[in-house]
Amino acid sequence: RTRVLTGITTSGTPHLGNYVGAIRPAVAASRGEGVESFYFLADYHALIKVQEPARVQRSTLEIAATWLACGLDPETVWFYRQSDVPEVQELTWLLTCVAGKGLLNRAHAYKAAVDRNREAGEDDDAGITAGLFMYPVLMAADILIFNADKVPVGRDQIQHIEMARDFGQRFNHLYGDPAGKQYFSLPEAVIEENVATLPGLDGRKMSKSYDNTIPLFVPREQLRKLIFSIVTDSSAPGEPKQTEGSALFQLYQAFASREETGAMRRAFADGIGWGDAKQALFERVDVEVAPLREKYEALIADPAKIELILREGAARLRETYAAPLLKQLREAVGLRDLS
Ligand code: ATP
Repeated sequence: RTRVLTGITTSGTPHLGNYVGAIRPAVAASRGEGVESFYFLADYHALIKVQEPARVQRSTLEIAATWLACGLDPETVWFYRQSDVPEVQELTWLLTCVAGKGLLNRAHAYKAAVDRNREAGEDDDAGITAGLFMYPVLMAADILIFNADKVPVGRDQIQHIEMARDFGQRFNHLYGDPAGKQYFSLPEAVIEENVATLPGLDGRKMSKSYDNTIPLFVPREQLRKLIFSIVTDSSAPGEPKQTEGSALFQLYQAFASREETGAMRRAFADGIGWGDAKQALFERVDVEVAPLREKYEALIADPAKIELILREGAARLRETYAAPLLKQLREAVGLRDLS
């Protein structure tokens, strides 16, 4: 079976972008034939961005409850919290020791941070942690810990999958047997062409880090309020409106059928008022989210149950994949066998 991995960083409350871009397609894919799905809560990753323990904990609970409410079945998939699998950290170190620093210098997230510093007239590395710099190695460990074949990602993440391939290949080359044993199979990025990147309330990419999100599970009235706060241009009712570059239209498209989207496109051309367009978006989102919201509320009220599911998931993953792999790797590099 093909092994597919999806993670969400526990850096805040899950939002419509996470739902459309990751959760909805991943849950649908997990029901397909021939797929072994891995879902994890990326809490080691969260520490790169968030130094508020309560926020990380709350987010972990919320994201776990969200996956479950959206139909993930922990009996048939691998579902775990990253930090419950300490082998991920150990693998990170083993990969760090084969990772080229020059390659990491070129990682998008790091380069973007350096560019911001330069624009601000600061030293290149001002305020940048080694955690941010090393993030691609941690991500490679997430992927290689069970030899994922396919990793669904947005275009900005392709580079990270290429790095995981690079580190895996170097390890194989250094420690594997050219004719026989290889430790890692090399993962492939799967670009989901049909999955949209949703804009946030301010028109930038919707992201937990930008505080511009529409959380997936807020009470109905609050959902309506947030949707009505989406930034639009100042064209009056009756004036034709551009769909291109309209956050409202992109959000609508992510929730509506092709026919509904076509009708909305015509309504834009015919000068629908922003209030009416927002009401239509609210209704479309709410129809899809309302049944999930009910399940979410029941789940989030029982943190102990979620905790149990996560711990069991991690224990199974460790036993089946992580511990046997690390045993082999420790031996490969010349460390003592712990078992
Ligand atoms: P952070 O700001 O902490 O990075 P985020 O909300 O941008 O968080 P991640 O947790 O890094 O998102 O991403 C989890 C998944 O959700 C990924 O598969 C990512 O592609 C997807 N995703 C995140 N934001 C969006 C968005 N605006 N539109 C579509 N998909 C998104």
